[in-house]
Amino acid sequence: MFRTTRVPLVRAVLAALLALLAVACGKEGSPPVKGPAENKLPHYQVDRGFQLPESRIWTRAKKRGYLRVGVKEDQPYLGERDPATGTYSGFDIEIARMMAASLGFEPKTIRFRTIASANRETALQNGQIDFYVGTYTINDKRKRLVGFAGPYYLAGQSLLVRKDEDDIHGPEDLAGKRVCSAAGSTPYQRIKADFPKAVLVAYDTYSVCVDNLLTYQVDAVTTDDAILIGYAAKVPEELKVVGKPFSEEPYGIGVPRGDNALRLALDDALEAGEKNGDWKRAYDATLGLSGVPAPKPPAIDRYPAS
Ligand code: GLU
Repeated sequence: MFRTTRVPLVRAVLAALLALLAVACGKEGSPPVKGPAENKLPHYQVDRGFQLPESRIWTRAKKRGYLRVGVKEDQPYLGERDPATGTYSGFDIEIARMMAASLGFEPKTIRFRTIASANRETALQNGQIDFYVGTYTINDKRKRLVGFAGPYYLAGQSLLVRKDEDDIHGPEDLAGKRVCSAAGSTPYQRIKADFPKAVLVAYDTYSVCVDNLLTYQVDAVTTDDAILIGYAAKVPEELKVVGKPFSEEPYGIGVPRGDNALRLALDDALEAGEKNGDWKRAYDATLGLSGVPAPKPPAIDRYPAS
């Protein structure tokens, strides 16, 4: 008799303890965590009948059964990987999912792969990835090496400094200052060419630059405003974005050069997403969390094959 009543009692106590633990861990009653909420993310209609035999990349991916997409993993709101689950999230990730759906790939058949700024062209040229979505500025120099669909967003170069910094308001204040950026990026190149008195420091990723800024190893981090806003939002009591953007950084989807069929299919997919509201829904659920309302996406540039 004693034994039969005891087990349910132990269970009830355990259940109560678990419920308490859940509240203590913030599952209930705590403010929402910053970042895309899974249930707010759009679901993109997979075009199951889609065919693109004239694209070498698409045909291979279809045979293989999955897409390999290059992205970033340390850029809040844009491309971020949760180290606990391995899940990627952010605006660029949503653009990649939207593109995959248009090309006829189910969400579970996308394999994201983190590729740093300096390695994008090589990854596309070597066939390590099918396309790349990660704050990738379209420019003529890169167009000689890879193709670009888009643009799908327009960013601008800016500066991130510590909250107590009073001397840096724009790139002209960087003379003699230690400035960090990612190797192989356009912001790095621009400081080198236009503000040679700045003391440039390069790392593979911007998150390492931000660590260096927080520990007083550098005085500023420079890259696109969209990226810097995300870092500032993580530690608003320590960091701030200053000045006005001083460049135009149109984001494109990098594809292997020569696969014009794939590039133009991605242009179509972006245009369709902008028209049917997917683009705006993706933005609102990710980059929009930074507080910047959705801009009008830039016009797609379907440049001729070269
Ligand atoms: N948009 C710039 C670039 O493509 C900076 C961001 C990045 O490094 O991804 O170089």
